[in-house]
Amino acid sequence: MELTLADFVLFVLFGSCAMAGFFAVVSRALHARSESRALAHRVICRLCLHAFEDHKQVKTVNCPHCGAANEKGRGRRLG
Ligand SMILES: [Zn+2]
Repeated sequence: MELTLADFVLFVLFGSCAMAGFFAVVSRALHARSESRALAHRVICRLCLHAFEDHKQVKTVNCPHCGAANEKGRGRRLG
């Protein structure tokens, strides 16, 4: 197969576009995943609305701001 300059330019253009699209999708997917993971650890105090993160595997966490017990893992997606 003989590769002409036009073919080469077209190939590079198409390749870079495909790469850019691929990386955009990958980075977006990674970002969404890390965001949802961070959201799973996020607790918003029901008393003072102080938002904090908790990585412990417990059902209730105490708010570092006011000390109120907050239930964790209650997804709002079902509602
Ligand atoms: Zn609180």
